[in-house]
Amino acid sequence: MRYVSFEYRDDNRRAWGISWADKIIDLPAAGVPLDLAFPSRLIAFIREGKDAWNRIDSVIEAARTGRLREGLLDPKAVRLLAPLPRSAKNVFALGLNYREHAAEAGRGANLPDVPIYFSKAATAIAAPEQPFVLDEQVTRKLDWEIELGVVIGVGGRAIPLDQALNHVFGYTVINDLSARDLQHGRPENQWFLGKSLDGSCPMGPVLVSTDEIPDPQQLEIALRVNGVEKQRSNTRNMIFPVAAIIADLSHYLTLEPGDVITTGTPNGVGGARKPPEFLKSGDIVEAEIEAIGVLRTPIVGPSA
Ligand code: ZN
Repeated sequence: MRYVSFEYRDDNRRAWGISWADKIIDLPAAGVPLDLAFPSRLIAFIREGKDAWNRIDSVIEAARTGRLREGLLDPKAVRLLAPLPRSAKNVFALGLNYREHAAEAGRGANLPDVPIYFSKAATAIAAPEQPFVLDEQVTRKLDWEIELGVVIGVGGRAIPLDQALNHVFGYTVINDLSARDLQHGRPENQWFLGKSLDGSCPMGPVLVSTDEIPDPQQLEIALRVNGVEKQRSNTRNMIFPVAAIIADLSHYLTLEPGDVITTGTPNGVGGARKPPEFLKSGDIVEAEIEAIGVLRTPIVGPSA
């Protein structure tokens, strides 16, 4: 299933549903004549739990047999939002989770022994196509980082490694936009600030459930700036795979349905290039992961 959150172009009303065939199905609307009640937000649906997720099958069956009376939309009628426009807590993030990226970040062959965690403010989450407003009074070194995003479906504490992927609801694309001058600042490193600017966590365009991605460790992952490829790797190159991250993180704290984990970026970030490259007003960033899609972010100046 390819889950989306969106707003209607005509009245800005927010809803969610699935991308199905060449349509979008507004699930709360589609459910009414079928006597299926869906909550008004995707995150609430995720929290309802595994048994409740299955009732989408009845909606799809109705769509397939031409019996869907409400909620079948032309994608042009809506504007996509991030699948989870506001997560309940900050986005969990990993540093240096790809071998070649650790090397370009100056670690050489000295790979981390354990996952390195930080977080991005929940307010940083941005929609597909949402312009990032680049204010040079805030940062002059805005960098890109394509990452596989994981949304937790079933919470837990001390989740065993061999059960970890059963706790995943789905996968999405995240661009961990990073202000390097704050992150590696002088006189202090402001890692949290550098990762939490408004709009610095573009997410989407869809959230793909695990039935369509049974193995998250074999996905091509690439990022382009103005059509020029800057990053390309495969999620098999993660140092700590998704299951290991979930097992390790939940050893220390409770993971809850709707939690978002962004799993680190491969090599090719701007700050590690020679000479370094940073984003500027007018740039278009496209982050793409196999089986999920392309997440596009225009960079604009403050007055645009
Ligand atoms: Zn990152």
